[in-house]
Amino acid sequence: MTEENVLVFEEPIQIDYEKCKEPMFCRKCLEACIPGVFALVPLEDRAKVRREPRIWKLTVGWPNYCNECGVCVKVCPTGALSLKKKH
Ligand code: SF4
Ligand code: SF4
Repeated sequence: MTEENVLVFEEPIQIDYEKCKEPMFCRKCLEACIPGVFALVPLEDRAKVRREPRIWKLTVGWPNYCNECGVCVKVCPTGALSLKKKH
C-alpha cells in the first residue's frame, strides 16, 4: 500500500483526561454532538465490567465526522474539550 492510500484521521477535538474523569456519568458531549463523533471505550475487559460506569473513557471515535461546530466545547461542564481547527 502506498502512502497516498493510507487514510489519515486528524483529531479535531482534544480531550483533557484530567478534566474528563467519568464520562459515563456526564455524557453531555456525547449527547450534544449531532454527527456522533465521540465514543466511549472500556479501559478493561468489557465483559467483566460492563456495568461499572467508571471504567469508560471518552474517545474521538469518528474524527472525520466533525463539522467543527464547537457545541461540545460549550456544553462540557469541566472545560475538558478544545477544538483544533482543521482549516
Ligand atoms: S465540534 Fe461539533 S461536530 Fe465536532 S465533535 Fe464537537 S459537537 Fe461534534
Ligand atoms: S462533556 Fe466534558 S466532562 Fe462530560 S463527558 Fe464530555 S468531555 Fe467529559
